[in-house]
Amino acid sequence: MVRHILSPLHESLLGRNTFACLRELEVSQWQSPEKLRGLQRTKLRRLLVLAAANCSYYHDLFKQRAVDPQRGDPLDALARLPLLDKTILRTRRRDMIRNGSPRATIRSNTGGSTGEPLTFYFDRRRVAYDKAARMRTHRWFGVEPGDREIYLWGAPAELKRQDRARILRDRLTNEMLLSAFNMSPRTMREYLGRIETFRPVSLFGYPSSIALLCEFGRSNGIIARPTSLKAVFVTGEVLDDRQRSAIERYFGVPVANGYGSREGGFLAHQCPQGSTHVTSENVIMEIVDDGGAPVPQGESGEIVITHLDNYAMPFIRYRTGDVGRLLNGPCACGRGLQVMDVVAGRRTDFLVATDGTVKHALSLIYVLREIDSVRQFQILQDRNRDVRIDVVATPEFGRIQHNQIDRGVRRQLGRDVRVSLALVDRIEALPSGKHRHVVSEA
Ligand SMILES: [Zn+2]
Repeated sequence: MVRHILSPLHESLLGRNTFACLRELEVSQWQSPEKLRGLQRTKLRRLLVLAAANCSYYHDLFKQRAVDPQRGDPLDALARLPLLDKTILRTRRRDMIRNGSPRATIRSNTGGSTGEPLTFYFDRRRVAYDKAARMRTHRWFGVEPGDREIYLWGAPAELKRQDRARILRDRLTNEMLLSAFNMSPRTMREYLGRIETFRPVSLFGYPSSIALLCEFGRSNGIIARPTSLKAVFVTGEVLDDRQRSAIERYFGVPVANGYGSREGGFLAHQCPQGSTHVTSENVIMEIVDDGGAPVPQGESGEIVITHLDNYAMPFIRYRTGDVGRLLNGPCACGRGLQVMDVVAGRRTDFLVATDGTVKHALSLIYVLREIDSVRQFQILQDRNRDVRIDVVATPEFGRIQHNQIDRGVRRQLGRDVRVSLALVDRIEALPSGKHRHVVSEA
């Protein structure tokens, strides 16, 4: 019942056309790469025309670069545009939002990969396409929309315990949420019990958290292998080989990795043959070198994306800060979707509360992300579980914000945790060019 009635109903109540998008994507994935390129051209032209007409930032930019989106190959026009980075998004945000659409838009923010908070907008069209793309990849593994799914996740709004609306929604949508921010031996034992009894068809979460749960289960001789389970889907971080084999060995099902971000969208996902396919119908992915020039196929560089279905605030040639490469297709699965590989992306360490509970790094990242005057940050935890936070802040940062951080850290890691906060001029990037916002030795 959930699959056929409630889930589509839930979607239509939210005003989304997700299932129509899914039907579209189910067909297009089998088209040839050339045909998909044609679809990208059509959608890109529409996006560029819309951006020129409705966003003053793009209107001025196209004029300056002599780009006429109505003429010629839109992919050539795209190549003439500069890359869009977080600094531009931050300073020109107002001019990038489509005129007159604020009512239909959804506001979101993220720390991105660099720890610099960012606010942006997207519309229902993008939400529908991203959700449909996710459903499609789950169907690759025999997991249907509405099938029972357990999330090992941590989004601040989702974590109010005993939230009755959430429990009801969970029942209606066949979803269960377990907190990745609260993994102690006691809760992990409970989670594995729930996985056994809820009989999920899939598990979804951060690779680090799911691998930790599997290692805990294995070393404590706890078996959680519901026969209903078909796949484990991970996202949000780079999945390493050790994590993959820990999860596959414990649950005895395939692990598939998804790549995407809140601001970028649902960008790519692994198929059962192991290739990572770009969501080519919704996203144009480019790989560029340090100077912003495209690199030859197969070579690594920064992943740059253009989401073709976000009209509320077009992201055109957006620098993700992640490193990847485009590979030669086709894949043995027969899909025409471009094949890629994420070489380096987000990595997160675990934090440990004073009572020994393991916390996903996002539990503190969310605390810092809430504060507008925080530009960049890094959280360091030493072996004694002491925490040092380096913050690059705007002049508005003061005592109130300092206290807010202190309270947030104590709420997550325990009242007696030793916290120090230092205002710094800059935070050093790693050799990969990325900032790691949580480094823990605990
Ligand atoms: Zn494939």
